[in-house]
Amino acid sequence: MDEVRRTGDSGLMSIEDADFTDAEHRQLIIVGTGAAGLTAALYAARANLTPVVFKGPEPGGQLVTTTDVENYPGFPEGILGPEMMMKFEEQAARFGADMRFGTVTAVDLSRRPFRLLVDERVPVLADALIISTGASARYLGLPNEERLLGHGVSSCATCDGAFFPDVEVAVVGGGDTAVEEAMFLTRFASRVHLIHRRDELRASKILQDRAFANDKIGYVWDTVVVDVLGENEVDGVRVRNVKTEETSELAVKALFVAIGHTPNTEIFKASLDMNEVGYIDTHPKSTHTSIPGVFACGDAQDHVYRQAVTAAGTGCMAAIDAERWLAEQAQPTEAS
Ligand code: NAP
Repeated sequence: MDEVRRTGDSGLMSIEDADFTDAEHRQLIIVGTGAAGLTAALYAARANLTPVVFKGPEPGGQLVTTTDVENYPGFPEGILGPEMMMKFEEQAARFGADMRFGTVTAVDLSRRPFRLLVDERVPVLADALIISTGASARYLGLPNEERLLGHGVSSCATCDGAFFPDVEVAVVGGGDTAVEEAMFLTRFASRVHLIHRRDELRASKILQDRAFANDKIGYVWDTVVVDVLGENEVDGVRVRNVKTEETSELAVKALFVAIGHTPNTEIFKASLDMNEVGYIDTHPKSTHTSIPGVFACGDAQDHVYRQAVTAAGTGCMAAIDAERWLAEQAQPTEAS
């Protein structure tokens, strides 16, 4: 590392400035430790690839912000999200996955081995790369929203809806996710208030038609949530009508925030094909990306299902795809 050229006093550097001459060189690096990354780590470790796994800024992924997980097969009594991710990690580590704190802050995928910079300081080389950086739910940014996260504030109706039977709940957002979540919640809640900042939904027509036909859903148009009320759990939300500027309170026991997700793929944007929002494109029925040797799994490439079990499934696929791809690279070519 003596030759590393550092920029400024911080000791941080750009990937162009990093010296990879003596960088650690690994067969497989996995970026992200949610359900997808840790499952990829388990399978890759059991395939003797001794993967290095970087935990990133949100170790354990979105599940660590969830309380009880009741829809992951194998846990009939349910399990706490953070506990489940600890078990995922323990299982991968047991087979030799090399878990490390550190965030991959830059990549150069234009040459092999691939170049990665960890924490803007440490250069690492990888023959193959699995991206499992997930997506982060977007929140409104209200202080009490953050405080009551997991105590009535949620971004996942599928995960948490069943905890609110026979009470009134609210959903904020007007897209497909908000409408789907509202409809799902009518299975449990006595009434679902869909709060939207405009007077028409963004959601697809077919979903709108279904939602309008569901008499358990009420609409609070032209309205934004300005505060979440409650000491230890949600007791209501304060809302403001953006046309009249009138403020009022809605007595609900939960607030489901469905204003979109942001895939954590910014550092790969210049290198990989992705959709307009930033979900990484993968070849059909595989985890291969637009660059051979780079694989993507979990919510970084899935904006449709977004479940722990589907993330784990694609993590398994990524490890198998990477293992096979690495084995192919090791085969002597006809010319050699
Ligand atoms: P989305 O389409 O981006 O919709 C986000 C919604 O949240 C919009 O209605 C937006 O309002 C509102 N919003 C954004 N920021 C807000 C804020 N700060 N305060 C209040 N409201 C805010 O996100 P999505 O619904 O998660 O869908 C993401 C993608 O997945 C879409 O392409 C969607 O079609 C797809 N999807 C498809 C299905 C399906 O086909 N079954 C299911 C789920 C998702 P405005 O409308 O005013 O912008």
